[in-house]
Amino acid sequence: MTLTARAYGAPAPAAPLVPLSIERRELRPHDVLIEIEYAGICHSDIHTVRGEWGEQPYPVVPGHEIAGVVAEVGAEVTRYVVGDRVGVGCMVDSCRECAPCLAGQQQYCENGFTGTYANTDKRGEVTQGGYSTHIVVTEDFVLRIPDGLGLDVAAPLLCAGITTYSPLRHWSAGPGKRVAIVGLGGLGHMGVKLAHAMGAEVTVLSQSLKKREDGLRLGADDYHATADPETFKELRRSFDLIVNTVSAQIPLDAYLALLKWEGTLVSVGLPPEPLSLRAGALISRRRSFAGSNIGGIAETQEMLDFCAEHGIGAEIEVIPGSYVNEAYERVLASDVRYRFVIDVATI
Ligand code: NAP
Ligand code: ZN
Ligand code: ZN
Repeated sequence: MTLTARAYGAPAPAAPLVPLSIERRELRPHDVLIEIEYAGICHSDIHTVRGEWGEQPYPVVPGHEIAGVVAEVGAEVTRYVVGDRVGVGCMVDSCRECAPCLAGQQQYCENGFTGTYANTDKRGEVTQGGYSTHIVVTEDFVLRIPDGLGLDVAAPLLCAGITTYSPLRHWSAGPGKRVAIVGLGGLGHMGVKLAHAMGAEVTVLSQSLKKREDGLRLGADDYHATADPETFKELRRSFDLIVNTVSAQIPLDAYLALLKWEGTLVSVGLPPEPLSLRAGALISRRRSFAGSNIGGIAETQEMLDFCAEHGIGAEIEVIPGSYVNEAYERVLASDVRYRFVIDVATI
């Protein structure tokens, strides 16, 4: 029998989110039913429901930063039992056969992973996300939330955490490395905490100095305003790695000039508009420009364990479901400190 879940979702691109009822599928042998407790609000939810990334299968229930407790397991589930504290991120399945999937990098699945919401799964059903009381997910795409982490501060780790952890690890952030994080929002504040915990020297590049104290408290060694042209003179050729988390277009050339010889600028921000750069900014110092997409399932578990070990959770503002439209406006105004998390019991 399917289960009726309460949810918040967008009925159309320009419409505010409203309370909805959705059906969760009957458990298949490898499925886990999760009673969701908290769901983070990612800027990607906003890009998606507003149709900025193209047409969507409305109504869309967003949410891919999911934390909750296992309420029921399918007959063949081996990894989880009822009562386990678990999370779900941006993926709920992938082809499991292509080279990236076999390498544990399901986020680069050649056949397209199944997104947690607004995606069509292998059976042709449209997925619905975490702004809801329950979700059913195959056990291979469920993460274990370590005991030391509160479910509320853990929820944002499932997207904001892994999306910054993965490039920091891939490009070897650590002792002796100078790392800059551009944008101190949901992703950015996790990037600061994680890069600091990895031992790198961390600089925040934010539009203004408004959040400077927070940035330093979160683990940054230095903090600069990008609205100040002096920043780009002072920090010229300073960084080994820059992680750009900005949800809008930024002048990439100016940021590339802040990289040392052979440094890398990685964009994880996904503005709807194209980014442009001059080849000279790369060629002159053999710099690289790269992108990075969330992280694989095993790496997401590694990140959660790393966070528990280092006492890292997101800085959150817990909100009721009815506040979600206002929260979206505040995210768009860069007025978020630093992740809104929906208390799902209020949906
Ligand atoms: P967010 O909380 O809104 O943070 C974005 C930050 O970017 C803001 O806090 C602001 O920081 C800065 N910013 C915003 N508008 C700007 C502008 N016009 N110029 C310069 N800086 C600006 O968003 P988020 O949830 O962290 O997500 C950030 C982006 O990453 C989104 O595009 C999202 O879709 C994308 N994303 C990608 C992945 C992936 O796998 N690659 C995963 C998750 C999210 P300051 O106030 O400090 O300047
Ligand atoms: Zn996200
Ligand atoms: Zn695949």
